[in-house]
Amino acid sequence: MALIVQSDFDDTITVGNVSTMVHKAFAPDLALWQAMEDEYHAGKYSVEESNIREFALIRRSRAEIEEYVRRNVVVREGFGEFVRYCEAENIKLVVVSSGLDLYIRPTLEKAGLARLGFRSGNAEVTPKGIVVSYTDPQGRPLTKGFKDAYLRLHKRQGHTIFYLGDGHSDYGPAEESDFVMARSTLRKWMESNGLPHTPFEDFHQALRSLQAFRRKLGA
Ligand SMILES: [Mg+2]
Repeated sequence: MALIVQSDFDDTITVGNVSTMVHKAFAPDLALWQAMEDEYHAGKYSVEESNIREFALIRRSRAEIEEYVRRNVVVREGFGEFVRYCEAENIKLVVVSSGLDLYIRPTLEKAGLARLGFRSGNAEVTPKGIVVSYTDPQGRPLTKGFKDAYLRLHKRQGHTIFYLGDGHSDYGPAEESDFVMARSTLRKWMESNGLPHTPFEDFHQALRSLQAFRRKLGA
């Protein structure tokens, strides 16, 4: 069984949630955006539905948003080294995010990691707002459970899964993974549910845990 690393993006690979940063920088009506966020946190919408609703409010050019991302988004300490370790050891590392390609791509490019594969929401920037869509691994449209769909694909393929995440949308995938690195909201949720996990705040810690997990697997 080949080991695969599946990682969340916002506030896992990056310091801070890029989706939130983009809304705070470009939402034409912050109060309206916050009201939509509150509805999401109350469980009224999935993260995918919530992104579709909220990004539709933003009417700014792709160039403007990409420039903001390049200037402001910081990648978590040790991530480059973590990526290079996976490459050197032939471990597949897949970023699966319910966020958007619109900000993931410029973040990875700036970090010199444009080669890294990722799956995310697809953003079409139009004068009437950003149109967000998601498709499952078979190419069918979906509006909930995006990360879970990829997690299950990796399981069906027989992979052992080393998972990294921080938030609400990581609960499902983390529960089904073989080893979980958790921070922030995900960490608290794993703790309160008595689920095994290893806390992390940077990718140096994640790398040490990955190496230890591989030794345990005998890989
Ligand atoms: Mg996250």
